[in-house]
Amino acid sequence: MLRIENLCVKIGDKEILTDINLHIEKGETHVLFGPNGAGKSTLINTILGNPKYEVANGSIYFNGKDITDMPMHERAKLGIGISYQSPPAISGVKLKNLLKIISKRDWEDVEKMVKHLNFEKFMDREVNVGFSGGEVKRSEILQIYSQNPDFIMFDEPDSGVDVENVELIGNTINKLLDKELKICERNKSGLIITHMGHILDFMEVDKAHVLCDGVISCSGNPREILNNLINHGYKRCIACYQKKK
Ligand code: ADP
Ligand code: MG
Ligand code: MG
Repeated sequence: MLRIENLCVKIGDKEILTDINLHIEKGETHVLFGPNGAGKSTLINTILGNPKYEVANGSIYFNGKDITDMPMHERAKLGIGISYQSPPAISGVKLKNLLKIISKRDWEDVEKMVKHLNFEKFMDREVNVGFSGGEVKRSEILQIYSQNPDFIMFDEPDSGVDVENVELIGNTINKLLDKELKICERNKSGLIITHMGHILDFMEVDKAHVLCDGVISCSGNPREILNNLINHGYKRCIACYQKKK
């Protein structure tokens, strides 16, 4: 579904991502670990087509189509969606009304998801205005559910979220990515950024990557990589990347 080849990304004169290669098949969900400032948000914003990020080299393909130079709204039409790390608050717009505008699902289904996320009492509130960390994340998940994209990127869906809601958010992401279906029956793929890993207790992911200093320093089994990070931290990942260089 998503194929990234030799991607280098700049902001102004600064190279943020170097030679990124990433393949995510239909039905797969990958997780991206990495310390603060590694370039995780840059990567998914580049996939989305945010014009702030300049592709200095390489290509991005979505379902076989080269989207490297495609504007953001066209990528969204193709089925690429994002749940933001820190979305803005939108004063004057009720969550319910925003959902009615963006939703591609039956309203009944949206209402079921509202209930599942215990979000009924937020529907008449202004979007994200005065929401706590966990509430903002649930609001994002609800919006992405309503938009129903095929490829969903989640930027730190677990940061600033209490334990109970991490479980709720993890379960919901699983559902959004068709994880209760067999892999051949799934229509969705995902890329999830986290630096905690606790959310993986509640989610099924197929592969993990560690991004350090703008480079994917290792890829593999999510559990193994997470255990490695817990035991040794990112330093060891940086060390193995420097060896690779
Ligand atoms: P992460 O999501 O992994 O924490 P980011 O992708 O947000 O990292 O940032 C990667 C690097 O790019 C950081 O060093 C950050 O300071 C830098 N960066 C992000 N935005 C800008 C910008 N507008 N101008 C210059 N540098 C930026
Ligand atoms: Mg960060
Ligand atoms: Mg980030």
